[in-house]
Amino acid sequence: MKKRSDKCRVLDEIFQSLSPAVHRASTVVFDSLEEFVQRKDRQPDGFSYGVTGTPTARELERRIAQLEGGGHCIAVPSGAAALMTTLMSFVRAGDHLLVSASCYGALQSFVSRWLANLGVDVQIFDPSIAAEMSGLIRSNTRMICLEAPGSVTMEIADIPTVVDIARRAGVLTMMDNTWASPLGLKPLDLGVDFAIEAATKYIGGHSDLLLGAVSTRSYAHYASLRDAQDVLGQQASPDDCFLALRGLETFELRFSAQAASALRVARWLSEQKTVDEVLFPALPGSRGHERWKTWFTGHGCLMSIIMRPAADTAYAEFFSRLRRFSIGASWGGVHSLAAFFPESLQRDRPFVLTQRPIIRLSIGLENCDLLIEDLHGAMEAFAR
Ligand SMILES: *Cc1c(COP(=O)(O)O)cnc(C)c1O
Repeated sequence: MKKRSDKCRVLDEIFQSLSPAVHRASTVVFDSLEEFVQRKDRQPDGFSYGVTGTPTARELERRIAQLEGGGHCIAVPSGAAALMTTLMSFVRAGDHLLVSASCYGALQSFVSRWLANLGVDVQIFDPSIAAEMSGLIRSNTRMICLEAPGSVTMEIADIPTVVDIARRAGVLTMMDNTWASPLGLKPLDLGVDFAIEAATKYIGGHSDLLLGAVSTRSYAHYASLRDAQDVLGQQASPDDCFLALRGLETFELRFSAQAASALRVARWLSEQKTVDEVLFPALPGSRGHERWKTWFTGHGCLMSIIMRPAADTAYAEFFSRLRRFSIGASWGGVHSLAAFFPESLQRDRPFVLTQRPIIRLSIGLENCDLLIEDLHGAMEAFAR
């Protein structure tokens, strides 16, 4: 005897929508005592309780796994949650953990303030690392955390070399792929074990949701990730999964339009007297361009600028002159944003790239001529 409510059954049978349904649930109901008792056996794919997702999350996971080039995916409430859930799934006390100095800030805080205090031996390495990685591997090295390019300073590690060294030593690799997105790089194709996206950025695309995703080709690793999602309570909201699914419908179009504008803006910036360096590996002649050209098939809309030496007040003038760029963190959405990373953040980092502040721009879908005009005004204000 089916105990499901008639209301739901009627909806499923007569209503076929072009858009995915939002299935909201804490409770999943079962037809028998036996099914209830064995409900955990339904994981990692099935449904046993809302925390591990409803069909809305599964559809998003299926679509993201497809974009990453096959395998499995878990959706979690934020990009930060995706990074931390991956670490908590596989790293234990007594393990040695290698983390690139250009990895996302919250990941740096988590490994140094939490994992190090929980008995994990954390070591930070040069974000441009290549064959030197083999000298860092120890018998208890468990995982290497990469982000390429680092989303503030844009260094790119020699990914295939690092992955090869890790594979030979039985060490797991994870890559925060948010900058390039699966449209610009498929880390799983390069042999990386976990491809991580802050879906908050390009996939959501409208600066109105937080969401993260971890993809892997290993079913065993996928099952561990799903288990950690369950235990740590990392539920992705079905409504946010719906918005991300909607974002995916325009993802490629937005990504290519924003990328084209970003390259124009980067070229223009590199010709300005007030700019010392544009950090945007897709820009010919820029730092990291050769590596980017070798492994990446695309780029997004995020770049950093190192200005010529100036007083702090010049930065205040720059930001207050902006009209079309909003001042704010996060990026990848349809609205252009400008963010600021002070001198102290750069100077105090291991493997420093610059002693100067960094201005970071995310290029949206606005008219590119108007964005350049806006930056022109801000550059004049900076130079005054
Ligand atoms: C934004 C971002 C994150 C974190 O994503 P949230 O959804 O904001 O938690 C992680 N990595 C990179 C590279 C990011 O830009």
